[in-house]
Amino acid sequence: MPDTLSYAQAVTFNRHIVLPQIDLGGQEALLNARVLVIGMGGLGCPAAQLLCSSGVGQLTLVDDDTVEHSNLPRQILFSAAQTGQLKVDAARDRLQAINPDCRINTVHTRLTDDALVDAINSHDVVLDCTDNSASRRQINRLCYSQNTPLVSGAAIRFEGQLLVVDPVQSSPCYQCVSRLVNEETLSCVEAGIFAPVVTTIGTQQAHIAMLLLMGTEVLAPGQLLTYDGLTLNWQRFTVPSDPYCEVCSHK
Ligand SMILES: [Zn+2]
Repeated sequence: MPDTLSYAQAVTFNRHIVLPQIDLGGQEALLNARVLVIGMGGLGCPAAQLLCSSGVGQLTLVDDDTVEHSNLPRQILFSAAQTGQLKVDAARDRLQAINPDCRINTVHTRLTDDALVDAINSHDVVLDCTDNSASRRQINRLCYSQNTPLVSGAAIRFEGQLLVVDPVQSSPCYQCVSRLVNEETLSCVEAGIFAPVVTTIGTQQAHIAMLLLMGTEVLAPGQLLTYDGLTLNWQRFTVPSDPYCEVCSHK
């Protein structure tokens, strides 16, 4: 039996429920949703905060790192007093204070393929909030193999990008896109990142995921959305599937 909103929850989320595009049904879809957030850096912090505050019922946070002072400008869930704590523990404490009804699971290791498959299978949507291409390729490959939608975000310098991968719709995958956009090999440590750009992209990942969970497709699978933080321009591209892609071409 799916959970239904309590009276107190209906009051809390009233500003959502009065929107006809959401209504009680949409808010209860969020209440019953399980979202896997991989990476609790500059993308994962605002994404997890919005998912939690907006009434998503269950979040699993994955990150193997600790809070550092140089993270604080863009990893907006954390405080200076949490320096040295595991990011997933620091995030859980902050999120639980925002919405005590949200069930929050934490994983503080980098997941093997088998463990990631198990995690993907027990969630409805996955947010890739990582910052390295090896993790991105692993998450993309395993979400595709498990038919689970993936909302991928990335940001560096003043540039951001968003992509939805939906294996059920046989959409192009992250690997198809990465061959076209000259996949970034620099880290934010080397290249720099403007804090509002990465938080904008993380916010949009939560936005897209919540609409997906409520049954609204806001960014068609295979469309790449790019953001220029110097001009505030968004651009939308339709990415073709790579017919030789080792991840998605055999579906
Ligand atoms: Zn592909």
